[in-house]
Amino acid sequence: MTAPAPRGWCPSLHEPMESGDGLLLRVRPPAAGLRAADARLLARMAARHGNGRIDLTQRANFQPRGFSPASARAFAGAMVAAGLAAADPVVERGRNLLAPPLLGVDATLHPGTAALVAAMAAAMRAWPVLPAKFGVVVDGGGLLPLPMQADIGARPGEIHVGGAMASCDDIPAAATRLAQWFAGRSEPRMRHAVTVLGAGAILRAVGLAPRPAPPAPPAPRSVGRLPGALGVAPAFGALEAAQLEILADLAETGDGTLRLTPWRTLLLPGVIALPEGLITDADDPRLRIRACTGAPGCASGWIETRAAAAQAATHGIPGLLHVSGCGKGCAHPGPAPRLLLGTARGFAVARDARAAAPPEQDGLTLDAALEALS
Ligand code: SF4
Repeated sequence: MTAPAPRGWCPSLHEPMESGDGLLLRVRPPAAGLRAADARLLARMAARHGNGRIDLTQRANFQPRGFSPASARAFAGAMVAAGLAAADPVVERGRNLLAPPLLGVDATLHPGTAALVAAMAAAMRAWPVLPAKFGVVVDGGGLLPLPMQADIGARPGEIHVGGAMASCDDIPAAATRLAQWFAGRSEPRMRHAVTVLGAGAILRAVGLAPRPAPPAPPAPRSVGRLPGALGVAPAFGALEAAQLEILADLAETGDGTLRLTPWRTLLLPGVIALPEGLITDADDPRLRIRACTGAPGCASGWIETRAAAAQAATHGIPGLLHVSGCGKGCAHPGPAPRLLLGTARGFAVARDARAAAPPEQDGLTLDAALEALS
């Protein structure tokens, strides 16, 4: 293990993060999907070396939990040996590319998408060392368009930074100029540089002609029977190793791959049968709840968020509900129509609020908080 990078630090496979249930780390599946055999290995190693809990992240990564320093090294070694990660921590940290989950499956993706993903991944290997959270998204439209919410966003023929975009023939070259420009800055993320300079000035600084980008599309449906794939979701993004093994078996009845999405769902191309114990109904009320790890898994959590979220799902609370164990708001950085927050005084509630904002009511019981939000 290496020392954590100081600017914009974030856990990776070789740089685990301490949490309430031990160390957690991240596994980044390949852009074209994780093969069933690799998913099975990941599940078995997460159960053997960690506590078997695997969160799905909004960057479409697996985040297994509950490791000791020694068992985290053993797990990382198994992932590298399986070809699921780079042995070099710096290289592994830089593999921060989100690609369309149905790459190679969705015939409605822009025909240049796969080539762009491959070219971007190759270009990124030669980029300077950037903050660990620095990420790239490559979108190709199709059934599940990705939001351009990354430090650099790319689509065939266009590049995006912080709400601005530019047309461009050589996207990997333009992205490389942006990465090199950003490497000379002190901000932890591109959005901070955007706040200081403006997105247009950043694009102009690397020779691009900016224009406003259209608003992000609403999150598409990624649960249930989709054209060409089955979408499943673990409740609140929390998967068990045993469930991942079941999904690996199921994937082998389809094209043999599992695809992670930034909506904390898994897609199984070509699969028909529905698994037990996972959400497959797009109208399930748990899909309208964003809950962080909370207590006891996270040492900062004031409340058991997932238990509270499970109870909230039975209350018919309208719209999106954000359940946050503390004011950091890991599960939903923006404002949410309904907020259920853990504080030193108990449960707090607010509407149209970020987790960090002062709540409207605090010191409530869970029942009273849910009543206030209903
Ligand atoms: S929001 Fe707070 S309690 Fe929840 S995971 Fe983040 S730090 Fe932990």
